[in-house]
Amino acid sequence: MHAEIISIGSELTTGAKLDTNSQWLSRELAGIGIPVYYHTTVADDLAANADVLATAVSRADVVLITGGLGPTQDDLTREALAEMLAVPLELDEPSLEFIQGLFASRNREMPERNSVQAMFPRGTQPIPNHRGTAPGIWAEIPRDQGRSDCKLAAMPGVPSEMYKMFQQQVVPKLQNEVGPARYIRSARINCFGPGESQAEQWLAGLTARGRDPEIGITVSKATITLRITAHGASSEECECKIQESKTLIYERMGQSVFGEEDQELQHVVIDLLAQQNQTLATAESGTGGLLAHHLTEIDALGLAYLGGIVAPTDSAKTDLLAVPAEVLAAHGPISGEVAEAMAVGCRTRLSADYALAVTECPASAGDIAPETVPCAYIALASDSEAISRRITLGGDPGITKARVAKAALNLLRL
Ligand code: ATP
Ligand code: MG
Repeated sequence: MHAEIISIGSELTTGAKLDTNSQWLSRELAGIGIPVYYHTTVADDLAANADVLATAVSRADVVLITGGLGPTQDDLTREALAEMLAVPLELDEPSLEFIQGLFASRNREMPERNSVQAMFPRGTQPIPNHRGTAPGIWAEIPRDQGRSDCKLAAMPGVPSEMYKMFQQQVVPKLQNEVGPARYIRSARINCFGPGESQAEQWLAGLTARGRDPEIGITVSKATITLRITAHGASSEECECKIQESKTLIYERMGQSVFGEEDQELQHVVIDLLAQQNQTLATAESGTGGLLAHHLTEIDALGLAYLGGIVAPTDSAKTDLLAVPAEVLAAHGPISGEVAEAMAVGCRTRLSADYALAVTECPASAGDIAPETVPCAYIALASDSEAISRRITLGGDPGITKARVAKAALNLLRL
């Protein structure tokens, strides 16, 4: 059994508004054990609506629709459903009385147009709306032999009205259909270091489609997230499956795993430093203070992070970080030697236990020869030594800063 969600509204297809209803409904359906295979967004157009509805009913067991139930000309869900089902629209007296009563209670006359909200395709049932005027529509649509009826609910587009109607009235109907409750639980493990395909190789068969739990890989700003999704007859069964997968993932991904759920590298680094009562400072060239931004977001009180210096120019490096001019002249600003000197100078300047430094060639620099491999150097200084690493930077320049900043944080973790 799986579901399709259809969001209706030209404000969505034109990009004026973001379809958040589908996101919300998908999460709610997962909570009651119904996976969602399709999200469809369609403009306020009758033919397009009828087409999308027919496709959804043919391929999904549960179809949830939001939007298009209002009283105006562009609200077409009722007509589209009637057209798809090849039945006429019929007046539902109790719904009409309810809508009239609603206007009366507000001391307003019901505009004639609102009576269309009491019209339903023959054979469907109204779903009362306790938050607004538009009732929803429930339908059980027969399909070819051997296939169960498709369960369809059309709900208002207004998010607060839709949430209430779904939770109070649609969920009980769906639960009757799903049979014994099924549960879906998920968890996330975050890694840094390997690329996406490298991670998949390490995980070998674990990411195979159709496996339960399912493990998916996504990359956001150089952080690799492994999302585990488990299905089961109880929450405990799901948790158990998730734990087993976590153990396997930790084994295979080794030191690249740094956290879970919303944890980013900066959380881990600040926690580690705070536990050991140690402090950190940063010096940046090329990343424009991104490291400082990440760290101050987590440690706004400065418990472990003492501060950072942004030093894009040679003079800032010599004046603010005491990088010797000879080192700059001998190795150039993008070098391990300069990164180490920046870290050492920064550590002294801010009296920190550790200092991280990065020096990256700006992505926009016009004078870099095309054959030059873009790279950055990251360095870590402690009271005993300074070390540096070279990172080559392929791919989208938009994420290189994020990668370099994270690589620097990772240096401290390992
Ligand atoms: P209803 O059936 O409740 O009358 P409608 O489509 O007629 O829905 P609209 O006037 O088009 O209602 O939209 C009402 C509000 O709900 C608007 O602010 C609209 O942006 C918002 N809305 C509609 N659909 C969605 C959606 N999928 N995600 C988020 N907001 C939505
Ligand atoms: Mg609409």
